Amino acid sequence: MQSKLKTTSWLELSKSALKNNIDFIQNMLGEKTILSSVVKGNAYGHDIETYCQLAYDCGVRHFSLYGAQEAERFLNAINGDYTLLILGNLTKTEMIWAIENGVEFYIINISSLERALKCAKKLSKSAKIHLEFETGMNRTGIDFSRLEKVISLIKENENLLEIKGVCTHLAGSESVTNFKRIADQIKVFKKIKKRFATEEHLKPLYHVACSAGILRYPKYVFDMARVGILQYGYFPNNETFIYYALKNKIQENPLKRVISWKTNIIETKIVKAGEFIGYGTAFYTNIPTKIAILPVGYAFGYARGLSNQGKVLINGNREDVIGTINMNMLTIDITNLPNAKIGDEVVLIGKQGDQELTVSSFSEFSNQLNYELLARLPMDIERRIVD
Ligand SMILES: *Cc1c(COP(=O)(O)O)cnc(C)c1O
Repeated sequence: MQSKLKTTSWLELSKSALKNNIDFIQNMLGEKTILSSVVKGNAYGHDIETYCQLAYDCGVRHFSLYGAQEAERFLNAINGDYTLLILGNLTKTEMIWAIENGVEFYIINISSLERALKCAKKLSKSAKIHLEFETGMNRTGIDFSRLEKVISLIKENENLLEIKGVCTHLAGSESVTNFKRIADQIKVFKKIKKRFATEEHLKPLYHVACSAGILRYPKYVFDMARVGILQYGYFPNNETFIYYALKNKIQENPLKRVISWKTNIIETKIVKAGEFIGYGTAFYTNIPTKIAILPVGYAFGYARGLSNQGKVLINGNREDVIGTINMNMLTIDITNLPNAKIGDEVVLIGKQGDQELTVSSFSEFSNQLNYELLARLPMDIERRIVD
């Protein structure tokens, strides 16, 4: 974004918070286990270009994204020595692009393996692939019954298929409710791993764990962990935090949130008692009410469900959203802040003074998961790097 015109709100990414989180994760994994930083969903809304450069500067050298387009953004933005892995399914055109650019990618079924082989032949260049197996998530992955077929295809085409990884995804490792299902998945995965181990010349990385996986099933992290939400400073859910806190006898969250969301007041006024605020009848003033208008609405990812519900921080105080969230604006009751004025900084997510609004408190009101709220932050809001 080269324009001098600024967006009406901005996201700040804290470098020191990210460093803290990466160190925490790598420490938990140990030196030998590769941390693959999962930056799909526009780096969980943090912005691929901005976030990945910071993560690279913190020492991360392996990144997982969803589509070829995200991988292309990464390649265009970041110089250096790193590995990119695409977790999604690729079309023929995308595979050719990935092979040409040395980008690794998932193989989710036999036909995607055959497609990779064709593309590699055409280019006379080997495809660097991760074989994803179906172990019980029932989403994507090669069926266990095709294991021998896969191995023979690979053995016949060793110059064209470079097996970088053998992997699966656990179906809900963040909740103990899924314990049996996960245990069954791991059993299947171990069988697959054992079979690959008999092909001694193949040296894939074995990987199954996401953030919840490394917290709940550290014995089954194998060679690499694909970590998303933890690096941004959030536990996958409350259950994983409580589990971690009890196990390590801590009370405070060891992670720091990387992102804050801020804007400025664009208007203030005093509305006399007995008036409605904004559209319709959602908010009625029983007393003279001082209001502030903020240039943020649902078009920028501020959920309409936060109408009459949301909180923001102004001058170190927690203030209420009143009335409905509009497409581009919302209204705050600042009756208790006689000195608040146009231009004052407002925190939508993050800290101000000793107050903090977390994504999770926010997403409880709006019924969105941390993951969803972050991933829906618009691409085009300005990102600023702070210490
Ligand atoms: C999103 C994703 C992850 C990361 O999940 P987190 O819970 O954010 O750590 C790991 N692996 C795959 C295949 C994913 O799609």
